[in-house]
Amino acid sequence: MSLPSHAHVVIIGGGIVGCSVAYHLARRGCPDVVLLERKQLTCGTTWHAAGLVGQLRATQNLTRLAQYTTELYEGLERETGQATGFRQVGSIAVAANEARFEELKRGASMARCFGLEVQALSPGEARERWPLLAIDDVVGAVYLPKDGRTNPVDTTQALARGARNAGVRIFENLKVTDIRTEGGRASGVLTAAGEVRADVVVNCAGMWAREVGGWAGVSVPLHAAEHFYIVTEPIAGLGSDLPILRDADACSYFKENTGKLLIGWFEPQAKPWGERGIPENFAFDQLPADVAHIEPLLAGAMHRVPVLESTGVQVFFNGPESFTPDDRYLLGEAPEVRGLFVAAGFNSIGIQSAGGAGKVLADWIIDGHPPFDLWDVDIRRCAPFQRNRRYLRDRTVETLGLLYAMHWPFRQAESARGVRKSALHDRLAAAGACFGEVAGFERANWFAPEGTEPRYEYSYGRQNWFGHSAQEHRAVRAGVGLFDQSSFAKFVLKGRDASGVLGRICANDIDVAVGKVVYTQWLNERGGIEADLTVTREAEDAYFIVSACATQTRDFTWLTRSIPGEAHAVALDVSSAYAVLGLMGPKSRELLGTLTDADLSTAAFPFGASRIIDLGYARVRASRITYVGELGYELYVPTEFAASVFDVVVGAGAPFGLRLAGYHAMNSLRMEKAYRHWGHDISDEDTPLEAGLAFAIAWKKRGGFVGLEALERQRESGLRRRLVAVALENPDRLLYHNEPIWRDGTIVGRISSAGAGVAPALL
Ligand SMILES: Cc1cc2nc3c(=O)[nH]c(=O)nc-3n(C[C@H](O)[C@H](O)[C@H](O)COP(=O)(O)OP(=O)(O)OC[C@H]3O[C@@H](n4cnc5c(N)ncnc54)[C@H](O)[C@@H]3O)c2cc1C
Repeated sequence: MSLPSHAHVVIIGGGIVGCSVAYHLARRGCPDVVLLERKQLTCGTTWHAAGLVGQLRATQNLTRLAQYTTELYEGLERETGQATGFRQVGSIAVAANEARFEELKRGASMARCFGLEVQALSPGEARERWPLLAIDDVVGAVYLPKDGRTNPVDTTQALARGARNAGVRIFENLKVTDIRTEGGRASGVLTAAGEVRADVVVNCAGMWAREVGGWAGVSVPLHAAEHFYIVTEPIAGLGSDLPILRDADACSYFKENTGKLLIGWFEPQAKPWGERGIPENFAFDQLPADVAHIEPLLAGAMHRVPVLESTGVQVFFNGPESFTPDDRYLLGEAPEVRGLFVAAGFNSIGIQSAGGAGKVLADWIIDGHPPFDLWDVDIRRCAPFQRNRRYLRDRTVETLGLLYAMHWPFRQAESARGVRKSALHDRLAAAGACFGEVAGFERANWFAPEGTEPRYEYSYGRQNWFGHSAQEHRAVRAGVGLFDQSSFAKFVLKGRDASGVLGRICANDIDVAVGKVVYTQWLNERGGIEADLTVTREAEDAYFIVSACATQTRDFTWLTRSIPGEAHAVALDVSSAYAVLGLMGPKSRELLGTLTDADLSTAAFPFGASRIIDLGYARVRASRITYVGELGYELYVPTEFAASVFDVVVGAGAPFGLRLAGYHAMNSLRMEKAYRHWGHDISDEDTPLEAGLAFAIAWKKRGGFVGLEALERQRESGLRRRLVAVALENPDRLLYHNEPIWRDGTIVGRISSAGAGVAPALL
């Protein structure tokens, strides 16, 4: 078989992920797919995986993908004739304390919500299913009967065989040395045997993917870490149908392995590896065993499974796996280069994720969009800086262990912090801010009063900051609060055609008078909400667009890709140019009035107006809008003026009871008003009609907009689901997200976001 000079799709990397993408492209009938592997299939990380195939993930769609993987692996041997070793033995997770049991039970209720079979077990019931288990300190357990295990090498070979049978050409021992681009599009790859031109290139290069993406200027933030397991001597009586056992409190998992036990760990302090690049010849290699590193973990394993105390170890295994800054994999079309797709960074769940990830990526490539909301793993969530090697190395120390750590609500990363700071950061810190992080941006989540440490004490109950945040919440509802919203993404669209271009992508009418702010969604052709933002007309030919920190890359990419080649319109990301102060609450106008000559009366400055006003010695853009549902102003301040403006506002605030407020208060305030949050409440698979945002659709605007036809069809056919806001009668029940909603004994929906508000009587 000789290397073709052209292929429709070239896949780089023959691990389980690359083979799954190839298999699914072929299954969808995609012609002319070539997979290039630098050494042999599975030689990177895949060959040494433990092969656990779990189904429950943190969101419904990721769970759907894991479920699909299980179904796929179940039938793969029948389909291809290649044995996979897949078996549905089930899994048991045990809890050694009440908090962990609550986490497991919350997970179980989420699993029910996602349609998974799940049972809570007493310690005794857990031991009935896993006889070697010590249960003296076990509080409870959860059993997922459909979880399974597979042989990663055989499963990959089965996917490759299925792909080959459907026409995919797989070349081993052929390294890709460069990615070609033309006019911002992937146009092919370079190999030792020559160039292959291609319409689509897919980077499935595992722990090499960061470097491979870098060839085309694409950020693929992942870093390898050492990952350990041992295999014991044979243990009498281990049944081959023994479920997988997880003891997250001891960071360990246990799998029966041909009459022995394979025991692996997710230790809290991991060992990053390959800081200076992955060695050129790495293939089927192991890293040196580090017995001292795993010794403390061994003690935990022996405690849970005492037979280990008298069992020898046959294999000390150490192999590298890639980890991403947020422990979620990287999937989708790279924002930097069209036609260049990525599927990498699988955070030790690549075997169980490969089936689903390969399927949806194939759909994405063929259909031009993801089949459903995949934001959790979408590569567009990454900030460009996250490719920084030192950042990745330092974060990786923490991310591996987080897989088995307590998944506390509001949990914040502890490593590689302080990367992006607002111009007001030090002032907020001095005022007691407790910071959280979004895409590296430090944001004040709540303020600790004097004498209190600004530090989270996590639990599933009312955490230590609830009371402080409630005070901020009350100040905004009844008086005035000041938020630092500088992390907002801000773009400018300028040019003769700016209005026409933006009008096509906004569902609302943005052809408005200069000085007006419009709340709008950007929709895809299916009517799904791609972005939720505000647009301010700055001039006849200029718009100021404000979106969320987390969606900066995604929204800017959507904007720039929506500008037709011939249009006279240029988009610029000006996020760093402006700090944003949110002065919010019924007394905000009065306070602001002491600092500016501008007429702030409702007649002169109504809701939705935006003006450049004097403030202190600065000139700032004040926009009368709000995400907290109170009278208020967002002040857009050129960054170098931020500190002086902040000082002036805070200096004038005392008579009005001004309080600094954080993102937790903003969140509880916006939920009380049922304001939607893109990423939680709305996504690219929800339409404005389903989301209750029909008020922001300009049905009749001239020229229409992207998604209009889909909305018209939906309006005609009626809705099958709706986002609704509900209040609990019992405020002691704390909900976060993804809890099932039961009605008359049936699950009728799930919670998209939830939080504690402040009852009117307590204001
Ligand atoms: C100890 C251990 C235990 C694990 N246990 C589990 C488990 O129980 N369950 C689970 O789901 N996951 C597990 N994992 C994780 C899983 O193994 C990985 O997530 C998965 O194998 C990643 O697959 P991949 O295809 O992305 O990467 P890889 O298997 O590394 O494949 C990438 C391929 O790209 C090739 N390549 C790189 N650069 C080039 C180039 N320039 N040209 C051509 N080819 C190139 C490489 O040679 C390699 O073959 C485990 C990992 C480890 C280390």
